[in-house]
Amino acid sequence: MPKNIATLTCRIQPYPDQVERLEAFLTQRYGKEIRILVQQDASLDQGFILRYGPDIFDWTSDHLQRQFQMALDQEGAGAADGLAYLAKAKDLLVNWQPQVKAEELGQVITVGDGIAQIQGLEHVAYHEIVTFAEGSRGMVVDIQKDQVSAIIFGDDTGIEEGSTVYRSGREAGIPLSDEVLGRVIDPLGQPIDDRGPIKASRYYPVEYSAPSIQDRAPVSRPLETGILAIDSMFPIGKGQRELIIGDRQTGKTAIAIDTILNQKGKNVICIYVSIGQRTSSVARLIDKLRKQGAMDYTIVLAAFAGDPVALQYLAPYSGTSIAEYFMKHGRDVLIVYDDLSKHAVAYRSISLLLERFPGREAYPGDIFYLHSRLLERSAQLSLAQGGGSLTALPIVETQSGDISAYIPTNVISITDGQIFLETNLFHAGQRPAINVGLSVSRVGGAAQSPAMKQAAGSLRLLLAQYREMEVFTQFSGDLDQASKDQLLMGQGIMQVLRQNHDAPLTRSQEVVRLLVSLQGCLKHFAPSLWRSEIDKFLPELQKEEPIILEKIDQTGLLSPQDRARILELAASFWQLDPQTIGLDHA
Ligand code: ATP
Ligand code: MG
Repeated sequence: MPKNIATLTCRIQPYPDQVERLEAFLTQRYGKEIRILVQQDASLDQGFILRYGPDIFDWTSDHLQRQFQMALDQEGAGAADGLAYLAKAKDLLVNWQPQVKAEELGQVITVGDGIAQIQGLEHVAYHEIVTFAEGSRGMVVDIQKDQVSAIIFGDDTGIEEGSTVYRSGREAGIPLSDEVLGRVIDPLGQPIDDRGPIKASRYYPVEYSAPSIQDRAPVSRPLETGILAIDSMFPIGKGQRELIIGDRQTGKTAIAIDTILNQKGKNVICIYVSIGQRTSSVARLIDKLRKQGAMDYTIVLAAFAGDPVALQYLAPYSGTSIAEYFMKHGRDVLIVYDDLSKHAVAYRSISLLLERFPGREAYPGDIFYLHSRLLERSAQLSLAQGGGSLTALPIVETQSGDISAYIPTNVISITDGQIFLETNLFHAGQRPAINVGLSVSRVGGAAQSPAMKQAAGSLRLLLAQYREMEVFTQFSGDLDQASKDQLLMGQGIMQVLRQNHDAPLTRSQEVVRLLVSLQGCLKHFAPSLWRSEIDKFLPELQKEEPIILEKIDQTGLLSPQDRARILELAASFWQLDPQTIGLDHA
């Protein structure tokens, strides 16, 4: 008996000449003599399945139907409307030729909790999409010697032991085109708003290697948040990664959304990736973005709390692929990951189900790699690469302000700085509740506008001294005048740094706010009045010197003359002695 045996599974016994023809086909294909062993299987409908080694030639009617459906999906994707789709379908029906090619089919060994273990897919790749005979799709996330595991997108109830699994031959990715702008989509690129299908021009893998050092340029252009405390002390540059970190309900999302609102008219595309949040809160947020006209330049990608963990795991990668698509077209992109703690939890569930060894806080060992390979994709590209940029604002939630827990320390060390929000400050009404001492921005300083740099001056130092003084004076009632002045100044400035949600400031508003506060124009007022006093002064300045404000907004520069003019107006508005605010001439 020859060693090389192929099996032919079919419903009824084939004629001998049919078997001979198939044997000749195999012998020719594999260059050796191959014999066929026939197995009858009453469950097959029509056609046959020929297996040799890992190769499978599927000629059952079910499979041919599936092949036709895939061809139709592919052809139909580019159709402009329903009629065009029908025309393509008709055309395909006439001209379609079934293909018999060697395929790898897998079989489900076990399935549960959204994960299927599969045998038989010997050549499947990591992150390859597989399709189950029941119609659901999954993604391979674990490859072992005799079996692979796939996470299932969507419903796994139809899938059972023995179900057939098909390879797709392509990595997980999303179909993309400019049309995605303004849309709400899921991590597989499918629209979840009610605005119809998105026509895609290309398929983009969700995992992509980060730009190399040669392809990058230094961070040099500001990405302004419109939040005074951040733009003045922790400036963010295009291409930077700045973490927003804090306990729950401390205004983390608010900062990210304000930053998106502030990009209006600034030619920046924004992507908000929502991971594991409730549908209702995301809906509210989209509503807000829409009302403020921000959806014109924004994409919302959401994997909700109730979605399979597979989708939550995929969400930030898909979002980044969209961002890269635009960045590679030379655009500036801002991406918000809200939040990576939930992402880490989703990955932890997957890893535990895959029986990977749990490490610190039960997270798998590669959780650091998971987030670093995501955030490494942010970049300022060099001019030779089109000069686009990707700025990332990942969000991480802490428990009781503990930034030394596993995920916070990881993400802190991957990013270029963090904005630390504190519950105490938030409840004391200091909103945004930024802890000035623990926050930092490591590369954004190079990108800060000269006007802001000049106006902010030694703000951080002043606030650090104020905090020290505040602690110190808790124990002593008697204060000299200089210390009292310093305290008042600090309190006043903390008031000026307060800012409502949804009210990003323009660059000139920020500069003027800081300038008049730090030059002591408001010393005569109680700290609680500083903000309202500035709000009264700004319209006056706008009326008198609109050009100066416009210049700051457009060029980011503040000339000594303009600075003097602003202070002069401030002096007359609040009836101050010009010398006390650093103006020499009366
Ligand atoms: P979660 O942990 O639930 O995601 P979060 O940290 O993202 O919360 P937000 O949802 O942004 O916090 O804000 C919590 C609440 O605080 C919201 O009701 C929001 O309107 C309010 N808030 C946030 N920032 C400010 C602000 N600067 N001024 C006033 N209210 C604010
Ligand atoms: Mg939030």
